[in-house]
Amino acid sequence: MRLLIVSNRLPVVLKKEQGKFQFEKGAGGLVSGLSDFLASIGKSESDVNEYIWMGWPGTTIDKTDEDAVKSSLEQKYHASPVFLSQKLMDKVYLGFCNKTIWPIFHYFSNFTSFETDFWSEYTRMNEIFCEELLKEIKPDDIIWVHDYHLMLLPALLREKVNNPIGFFLHIPFPSYEMYRLFSRESRSGILEGLLGADLIGFHTHDYSQYFLQSVLRILGIENHMGYIEMPNRMVKVGTFPMGIEFEKFNEMDVSPFPSAKAAEGQPKMILSVDRLDYSKGIINRLQGFDLFLKRHPEWRGKVFMNMIVVPSRTGVPSYQKIKRTLDELVGNVNGNYSQDDWTPVVYQYTSLPHNELIAKYRKSDVALLTPLRDGMNLVAKEYVASLQDRRGVLVLSEFTGAAKELSETIIINPNSIDEIATGILEALDMPEREQIRRNKIMQKRLKRYDVTKWAHDFVDNLINISKSTGYSANEKLLTPDTQDKLLKHYNEAKNCIIIVNYDGTLVPISKYPGQAKASDELLRLLTRLHENDKSELVIISSRGREDLDNWLGGVPVNLTAEHGSWIKNKTEDDWHLFKPLSAGWKHDILPILEMYADRLPGSFVEEREYSIAWNYKKADIEQSSVLSKEISEHLMSITGNVGVQVLHGNKVIEISNSGVNKGELAMHWLSRKNYDFVLAIGAGWSDELLFQTLPDHAWSVKVGFNQTAARYLVKNQRDAMGILEALADQ
Ligand code: UDP
Repeated sequence: MRLLIVSNRLPVVLKKEQGKFQFEKGAGGLVSGLSDFLASIGKSESDVNEYIWMGWPGTTIDKTDEDAVKSSLEQKYHASPVFLSQKLMDKVYLGFCNKTIWPIFHYFSNFTSFETDFWSEYTRMNEIFCEELLKEIKPDDIIWVHDYHLMLLPALLREKVNNPIGFFLHIPFPSYEMYRLFSRESRSGILEGLLGADLIGFHTHDYSQYFLQSVLRILGIENHMGYIEMPNRMVKVGTFPMGIEFEKFNEMDVSPFPSAKAAEGQPKMILSVDRLDYSKGIINRLQGFDLFLKRHPEWRGKVFMNMIVVPSRTGVPSYQKIKRTLDELVGNVNGNYSQDDWTPVVYQYTSLPHNELIAKYRKSDVALLTPLRDGMNLVAKEYVASLQDRRGVLVLSEFTGAAKELSETIIINPNSIDEIATGILEALDMPEREQIRRNKIMQKRLKRYDVTKWAHDFVDNLINISKSTGYSANEKLLTPDTQDKLLKHYNEAKNCIIIVNYDGTLVPISKYPGQAKASDELLRLLTRLHENDKSELVIISSRGREDLDNWLGGVPVNLTAEHGSWIKNKTEDDWHLFKPLSAGWKHDILPILEMYADRLPGSFVEEREYSIAWNYKKADIEQSSVLSKEISEHLMSITGNVGVQVLHGNKVIEISNSGVNKGELAMHWLSRKNYDFVLAIGAGWSDELLFQTLPDHAWSVKVGFNQTAARYLVKNQRDAMGILEALADQ
């Protein structure tokens, strides 16, 4: 199987110089991070034995050059270009990506702008990616889409292909209150886009939870332990904290760059490394260092801060502004404290190659990383990994993903200048033995879950989830061939029984329960099925007797109501109880459910003769999701010994007599005769009990693509009716 990696930019950047294309290896974190993993493809035991990387090559390519560029990239770099104009790419990258998504996802609402064309440009860019990918995708590819530029791509691809699709977000996913700042169209569009994937990965558990909460509140879709049930498949949301290439940082020979720590008497070095971005808290850091020098004159001349600031998004005004503020502040601190032979801040506005950077990591006594928000912050991990002698102290913001894994560092809140200043002092004062003790623990952890492990973990999860959910749905789809076999079996059989549920199978699911009336066409179909002497037709419903009498009373079918509490044979006029049932328990349960209904506006209690239901379809989705679990547990704890069952269905909790359910009822009908053709069709959660009890030779069909015990699936209610019509035509 081939892994198709998709990211906004290709790992190689193309430049045209004097009419000739130059290919330069990209320097991004993902590119270098994945290189070991990609090199291992084909050599490990994984199902993946090939890969290709798709993305934008970094410039507009003339139509006439496209073929040449494509074949060079494929041959030399395992890469395939998505051809897009620089104009559109700039618009999207500097527009919706970095003026809307980036600030909202990093909690900077003040830097957010919502321009009218942003959303349509972003959509267009994702559509072009989809079109280009469709030309490349082969049936056994697995697709791994990366990051916030391509959040609509999973759903666009899902409409066209059945391949497993994974998505990983490299930046934070914000809490719901922040996320809802997006326009209505874009906030649901992004979530729907992501839900096209089979596996959605985030760096931390918090980001995963925030995503699930937004899906619940905005799209109204619940999850069970991180699994989201979509109409035709399952989506898994998981946490995969991205690692680094530990060995490389730990072992690299960095000569000729100096990497020895300052000798006794020389000023100690505090290092900070980041892209110039308002999310990185660079200004706060300088203010913290300034406060430290003010409070601790004894350290002046004995410590300096080396700030490596990598130029970034220089075309965005908010980035230009922060650059000016930074320049000014560095000038102020240096102006205030510099001495003849000592400058407190050594500021380098540049990007360093890894060997030089690692030398700096090793040389520094302290690394001071104070992002106000950062999805992960790989620099923090790289710093700890690089310390060969394990001497060095990391002071790290609690608002980075890395802080979740590096709890042995000095963790600070970067919004507090005071905490930064105190953190610096604590780091400078930390005894060497303690530094070594802490770094040893963290290095062990970083080594164990390095970036190769991270990538394998994600890809293995993707393969497993698509094997166990999405694709089994397609495998179960009732094909015309299988339906022919079913009809043949029906024709050859002597005694047939057809058991169908009402809502969702015979009539479409109705928003208002009172409106699910049977059409004349349905009544005619049921009558035709009944006319075949050898077959018995049973309708089992969770509805009350009155509804079924009103809608189906005129046709000669066997009816059961209230999940099987009541039965009415086609030859009889009256209903009778399926078995002796008690209603005494209702007195105890009803007040409890009513109390919960009072606590949750929009939820209500439906009382029937031998069952009660607490229905929360119209209640606040998030509150009800939590409360329903509490109610289920509460009821189970008090009904254990009283012959009552608690069933948690689709936004409803049903309490009824034990042993009264569609499964028990099916057994009752099946035991009446030796049926050599059994067909059951159902659409709801309670039909699962029916499917589970059927004999091996039975045909069981679920309406809708959900996880099911049924042998076959049909897409919708119309297809279910198609089976019944075909049977009636025999
Ligand atoms: N980096 C680099 N040279 C530099 C500064 C940084 O190669 O001069 C690399 C660094 O090694 C790290 C990446 O840039 O792998 C920054 O990743 P991080 O997650 O810390 O921040 P991001 O820039 O992705 O927000």
